[in-house]
Amino acid sequence: MDINNLIKETTIVYDLKEEKEVFWVNPEYGKKAVLPVDQADIFDAEARFQRFAPYFKEEFPETTQSNGILESPLTPIPKMKEAVTKFEHYSLTGNVYLKEDNKLPISGSIKSRGGIYEVLKFAEQVAIESGMLTYMDNYSILRESKFHKLFSNYGVSVGSTGNLALSIGIVAAHLGFQVTVHMSHDAKKWKKDLLRAKGVNVIEYPGSFTSAITAGRKKAAEDPKMYFIDDEGSYDLFLGYSVSAIRLQKQLKDQNIQVDKDHPLFVYLPAGVGGSPSGVSFGLKTILGENVHPIFAEPTHIPSVLLGMATGLNDKISVYDIGLDGLTEADGLAVGRPSRIAGKIMKTLLLGIGTFEDARVLAYTAQLWDTENIKVEPSATGVLLP
Ligand SMILES: *Cc1c(COP(=O)(O)O)cnc(C)c1O
Repeated sequence: MDINNLIKETTIVYDLKEEKEVFWVNPEYGKKAVLPVDQADIFDAEARFQRFAPYFKEEFPETTQSNGILESPLTPIPKMKEAVTKFEHYSLTGNVYLKEDNKLPISGSIKSRGGIYEVLKFAEQVAIESGMLTYMDNYSILRESKFHKLFSNYGVSVGSTGNLALSIGIVAAHLGFQVTVHMSHDAKKWKKDLLRAKGVNVIEYPGSFTSAITAGRKKAAEDPKMYFIDDEGSYDLFLGYSVSAIRLQKQLKDQNIQVDKDHPLFVYLPAGVGGSPSGVSFGLKTILGENVHPIFAEPTHIPSVLLGMATGLNDKISVYDIGLDGLTEADGLAVGRPSRIAGKIMKTLLLGIGTFEDARVLAYTAQLWDTENIKVEPSATGVLLP
């Protein structure tokens, strides 16, 4: 691959290199495709979350009210809609809702879906294989010290910009696993401090997310008792995210929000490595069908999924290859190379991808606080693209 030719010959790549705000429309959107996952996989994941609900209910008091289910509210934000459309000088028919994954228990981010799911799946497998647990048990027994002892024979590790480490680190440490997280320079100090306080081994890297995850994967490969959660290619993570679709279907119904041909649902999702927005989009397309239109949002300085999908090179190209610096205030999205899954599954499911400048998300983050009293990290507001 000759990067210079790619930049010269492909307008979109040129614009990305110039750090312009762009909107790319996916030419493959809506075409037929055979996917490696289907609806049964989503329900399998939901059933596992349900089996663990009694464990969460007792182990994490913040989940008592929801009976051990980790879910976030769907919130109308009319004042924010008014402020943003005024600020950006455009008009918008329809209503704007915020899926408040910032309020998800345990990590306060979407990573409480995929990250925690993969830990649960591994823990269940270890416990079942040991003969100490059956699928019909009340999983609150996993709080007993004999399970702690069992899990302490295993390590769980992950590479992360912060939030994935929080979700995996906290739950795996509670279960009794020895947890190691490999964190990139973007990771916020408070996230590292919180993990260390939970007994998690935090290894910091001066480089990017890609270098942190590569180092973590290599270290884990040397240790047969170490389970590595791979944000660049895990289908378990992906399916954990997809469960949100079943939950959202119910929330839409409860709030009388119609989704049909005359009432299409446009879902804007911030993308880092592309795993969480792809899992959610796959779920929504599978559960709610063709009237849902997923759109990703990425920072102009690090549009990794867009670069991978627009060139068709997916994980074979990184934003550093075209000379971008990868620096953004949206630390949850600071990933230079997309996952191996995102581009592949989203090839026909994704309407398009927009990019945003940091100044815009910082303004939106403040506006969301001023208008709706909702506090989110900058990663979350890029989705309010004009
Ligand atoms: C991780 C993260 C994303 C993006 O998820 P990816 O799987 O990396 O694409 C978006 N928002 C927040 C707050 C995140 O932590």
